[in-house]
Amino acid sequence: MNRPNIDAGDMRWGWTCPLCETDVSVSRDPGSETFRWECDDESCEAVGFGFSSRRAARLALKEYRERYQNIYR
Ligand SMILES: [Zn+2]
Repeated sequence: MNRPNIDAGDMRWGWTCPLCETDVSVSRDPGSETFRWECDDESCEAVGFGFSSRRAARLALKEYRERYQNIYR
């Protein structure tokens, strides 16, 4: 089940926060085996967690962005 360390730097696909366009960090929680994304701006509260895969986290981030943009259309 353990994989060799994955360099998070290789996993940056240009994700940005839906709220402030700051880079978003995606990381894996080794305790719960889930993924989370979190805005790098400490004053921003955008965060998502509990995703089963990096892809799921990415899709959730995309949906978050679309939802947010719908509100302010
Ligand atoms: Zn943000």
